[in-house]
Amino acid sequence: MQIVVLAGGVGGARFLRGVLAAAPGAQVTAVVNTGDDVTLHGLRICPDLDTVMYTLGDGIDEERGWGRRGESWTVKEELAAYGAEPTWFGLGDRDLATHLVRTRMLDAGFPLSEVTAALADRWQPGVRLLPMSDQRVETHVVVTDPETGRPRAVHFQEWWIRHRAALDASAFVQVGVDDARPAPGVVEALADADAVLIAPSNPVVSIGTVLGVPGMRAALTATRGRVVGISPIVAGAVVRGMADRCLPVVGVEVSAEGVGRHYGARADGGLLDAWLVHSGDGAAVPGVDVRAVPLLMSSPEATRDLARAALDAARV
Ligand code: GDP
Ligand code: CA
Repeated sequence: MQIVVLAGGVGGARFLRGVLAAAPGAQVTAVVNTGDDVTLHGLRICPDLDTVMYTLGDGIDEERGWGRRGESWTVKEELAAYGAEPTWFGLGDRDLATHLVRTRMLDAGFPLSEVTAALADRWQPGVRLLPMSDQRVETHVVVTDPETGRPRAVHFQEWWIRHRAALDASAFVQVGVDDARPAPGVVEALADADAVLIAPSNPVVSIGTVLGVPGMRAALTATRGRVVGISPIVAGAVVRGMADRCLPVVGVEVSAEGVGRHYGARADGGLLDAWLVHSGDGAAVPGVDVRAVPLLMSSPEATRDLARAALDAARV
């Protein structure tokens, strides 16, 4: 069985763990958002790819949800002592080795998909880990500059981490997207999939960014398998993170119904055949098989059961 999962960082990584537990024999391809990627201190950082790789490779700091377990921060402190900006981004010592290897390989001319495969060779995540694209696409956020009152675009990481998404945003812009294509293997994996699962990831800056890559949406809707989405919104609120700051910017209500309608029915030019919402959450999404099941990934068993429900909805 071939399963493709569209994923962001923490929500995507945890869900993928459930998919591997629910379908041990399946070939799973993860197509991961790279719109959060950024170059800092000369290093190429791919937060969502690393979160998925470390989570599935058992190297993640479970409590933080990102970065390495048993991390130390000597280099970060030393950089701060030089006053080397930015100081708001957490770059751990162990994590740094990943960024050094990645940056060196990219500088040597390897595409991100090959670099990702090389890094995954160490971590053995159990899935085929693919960036959404080999081309650089970086999400920027249009905010009102508090000093000038004029619109200004900041990198998504600056908005998310430095400003904790507190600056009012008027738009998200995918810089570089016009020249991007799905990474090698993505279109083929989607075409051959028995099931395509849209992880409970941020619908705007994780899933929305993946879908923004030219050719991605068409490849997804052409899949021979069923497309099943899982709501990241439970009881009208995000489970963790700040996706509730992103949805209103694109005019989507913060609810399972709002996100389901935003993705839309595949039969009507949207994406979904089925949509999973949390038990007790109603959602009317015309043309879509809406199912209510427990959506909280609070334990390995609960996460596996959620993935099982998604595969059931995909009829595989
Ligand atoms: P990020 O890139 O690290 O921000 O992570 P993602 O985009 O993959 O996922 C963020 C989303 O995951 C948030 O909108 C959360 O609401 C959602 N999320 C986190 N934990 C859970 C969970 O246990 N169940 C569900 N349904 N959603 C979750
Ligand atoms: Ca992310």
